[in-house]
Amino acid sequence: MQFALHLTMDTLRVGVIGLQGDVFEHISALRRAFEDLGIKGEAVWVRRPPDLERIEGLVLPGGESTTISKLLSTFGLRDILKEMAGGGAPILGTCAGCVLLAREGDALVYKTRTELLALMDMSVDRNAFGPQRESFEANVDIEGLGSYPGVFIRAPLIKRVWGDCKAIGTFHGKMVLARQKNLLAASFHPELTDDTRFYRMFLGMF
Ligand code: GLN
Repeated sequence: MQFALHLTMDTLRVGVIGLQGDVFEHISALRRAFEDLGIKGEAVWVRRPPDLERIEGLVLPGGESTTISKLLSTFGLRDILKEMAGGGAPILGTCAGCVLLAREGDALVYKTRTELLALMDMSVDRNAFGPQRESFEANVDIEGLGSYPGVFIRAPLIKRVWGDCKAIGTFHGKMVLARQKNLLAASFHPELTDDTRFYRMFLGMF
């Protein structure tokens, strides 16, 4: 299998890890962004290692981080995903995906024995913005994009960043978007808005 970036390939293939969570929303959001950018792209549902063939970057969707974490191991995707991240493939994690990218979690992460991918130098606080019924939409301030409509559903807070990991998005001064080289972690759900600027920014990382 080949995981290096293929910048010369004419079709950009981006995978969405589809084990649990809002997978289809990411696939449609990616398609909208390809269209807006006028590039030939394919958004691919990834369930098993062979689905990753010729995939140049990935999305780890929102859902339930404990469940997704277990399924990543069960279906043999954990190590390959880490290998791709190390090889420079752009990876976007949203909400539960943001939790999984973090190096450190909070008490809930450890209590549920959620095995983090530990790819980004940041610590997260799961469900920091309250339970499901307190889901809300609010503007997030994103470096290079300005104000962006953030949908928060049992969202994590990025509590601390260090090393090469930088906060590039805030909500009321709180860190909700971080980038570390080829990795991007959002505590909100950009796939649930019609605004494709966020995905265009992500696709700019390829
Ligand atoms: N609170 C969930 C978790 O930590 C994430 C919720 C979401 O992805 N919308 O797994």
